[in-house]
Amino acid sequence: NAGRSCFHRFRQDESERSLQEQRVAEALVESLKTTPEEFSVVYQPQFDLTSDRLIGMEVLVRWDHADIGPISPAEFIEVCERRGLIHELMERVVACVVADLSSLTTAVPRGLGLALNISAGQFADARLLALIEPIVSQTRRLGWVPELEITETHLMHLSPRYRRQLEAFGRDGVRIAVDDFGTGYSSLAYLHELPIHILKIDRQFVARLGEERRDLQIVSAVLGMARALELEVIAEGIETDAQRQHLVQLNCLKGQGFLMARPMRWAQLSQRWLM
Ligand code: C2E
Ligand code: CA
Ligand code: CA
Ligand code: CA
Repeated sequence: NAGRSCFHRFRQDESERSLQEQRVAEALVESLKTTPEEFSVVYQPQFDLTSDRLIGMEVLVRWDHADIGPISPAEFIEVCERRGLIHELMERVVACVVADLSSLTTAVPRGLGLALNISAGQFADARLLALIEPIVSQTRRLGWVPELEITETHLMHLSPRYRRQLEAFGRDGVRIAVDDFGTGYSSLAYLHELPIHILKIDRQFVARLGEERRDLQIVSAVLGMARALELEVIAEGIETDAQRQHLVQLNCLKGQGFLMARPMRWAQLSQRWLM
């Protein structure tokens, strides 16, 4: 409808994208097999917004390719999912986290959350339980709490069988967080049905706090809903003090974001908060 030239351009973008994806996919296969040390993890601290106390951390994967340089997870996670490589990638992620955690003595603050991002497809993968087991046992040793983050849109499409998998995790003391909450238009009924513990308010709402009254109302409504369902709430992507203050006023007392701390290497995090 838009005309011939638009159609042409679209096709070009498409084929460029698949070419780029092809390149990333090939590099992924190669690196996972021959140079897994290119993949590493960083940790973004999470805080109590009123006391600045550390309450947990989110694990984020990093890939520094020998020739290409750093590649963002936004670019390669999806390719991993589509090409069936996510389990291999997460094996590497888990190995990194376990190495870091095992360096700790038990003389660290207790009760900290340790959150791992899990792709929807992994809930359908029988290997998931064994994959996260070493993290579950390390966190248990430290008196910490393992958490799995799954995006809202993915959660909504989980079949009953995988919902039961979520329930099983809950019984094991693994907490489930709904990532990017607010972007998937979930209903109260559906949230109520799922064995979840935490809502992570997507940063697009946090970013607009203070600009638009509507966003304030949305976050406020989400917090009311979370309270009614007895879920914990954590805000992500806090970049300004004004946003932080708005959240505290709305009684959202947990958060993470560049304002407080960027994702960082284990050495830095542990030196600053765990010694
Ligand atoms: P996410 O789970 O929503 O993670 C939060 C992203 O926001 C991270 O980007 C983080 O660095 C960034 N961020 C944190 N604070 C701020 C802030 O104040 N402002 C802004 N603008 N950004 C902030 P990152 O590390 O590039 O990760 C992107 C996405 O890749 C993640 O989004 C997650 O969906 C996925 N991902 C990362 N690591 C893993 C992993 O180990 N496994 C899986 N399955 N997915 C992962
Ligand atoms: Ca996340
Ligand atoms: Ca998120
Ligand atoms: Ca996200």
